Amino acid sequence: MKSARLIKSKPTSVITGGAGFLGSHLSDYLLQKGHSVIVIDNLITGSIRNIAHLVGNLDFKFIQQDITEFIYLDVPVDYVWHFASPASPIDYLELPIQTLKVGSLGTHKALGLAKHKKARILLASTSEIYGDPLVHPQPESYWGNVNTIGPRGCYDEAKRFAEALVMAYHREHQVATRIVRIFNTYGPRMRLNDGRVVPSFVVAAMQNKPVTVYGDGSQTRSFCYVSDLIEGIYRLMMSDTHLPVNIGNPRELSMLEFARQIIRATASKSKIIFTPLPKDDPKLRQPDITLARQLLNWEPIIGLELGMEKTMSYFEDLVKSTVRKNKKFT
Ligand code: UDP
Repeated sequence: MKSARLIKSKPTSVITGGAGFLGSHLSDYLLQKGHSVIVIDNLITGSIRNIAHLVGNLDFKFIQQDITEFIYLDVPVDYVWHFASPASPIDYLELPIQTLKVGSLGTHKALGLAKHKKARILLASTSEIYGDPLVHPQPESYWGNVNTIGPRGCYDEAKRFAEALVMAYHREHQVATRIVRIFNTYGPRMRLNDGRVVPSFVVAAMQNKPVTVYGDGSQTRSFCYVSDLIEGIYRLMMSDTHLPVNIGNPRELSMLEFARQIIRATASKSKIIFTPLPKDDPKLRQPDITLARQLLNWEPIIGLELGMEKTMSYFEDLVKSTVRKNKKFT
């Protein structure tokens, strides 16, 4: 008689943080690739709305749980995608202890699950591990410049610890591990109020409200459209590379330039206003994606113009429905 594992037709993927912006896009992608998907999320920054369209799909299951608690699953698991964490500066400033706990205890539980199930695990790490970088653009070989006790330390150090723990499980327990360092990503399902620059600029511009640029706006970021990012992450999981790989779009622009572009694209009457730069805000950020190109044959294909068009139409619908809802209740 064949074992359950041998006759199982679909790979099973567990996504921690699967109701978040990236996790929910990953859920869609994996279901399309023929995986069974189990999402575990405590919904502190994720939202049921991001996965509501998957309810009723027999290959999809949602478990509401904080992954810093023991994860018990009574099915075989092939892949663990560890995405759970607050990820926007505003969120992790409000939730510093939860951020540290999910990066440490949560990563421990996710690794324990992968070890027990003999599954492959991918950690969603971040460009924040480079801190305010002194090397530009940032290759994976750069060790970073992080202020451990500053306001961003809770996120940066949690992710740095998570990378170290993943490597320890790789070396000590021979768990098959992958680490992706994710650079700024945007697209539908970002929260209107998550405080990150894309929703913040777009929503202000659409409502002709002032667009708030922090500092003098000379700090740079490089934005990757979400579908490109998910493709790169999938390729990394399926590769045999256990060392960290940057995934992001190298097209870099200043925040002032970005604000002007969004105002133009939305034909907005918004003015730009300037407020102080938050502490430790990285001045420059651009991924060096040489490794991803070489090892994964991956590079982004969606340009900023097309990506922003898709994102703005998502926010337009969301803003309209929010206004409609507000009207109903007043
Ligand atoms: N930023 C800004 N106005 C905003 C929100 C963010 O000028 O309303 C700037 C922020 O200071 C940073 C960049 O935009 O330099 C990207 O910020 P975000 O919060 O999206 O993420 P980060 O890349 O800093 O993690």
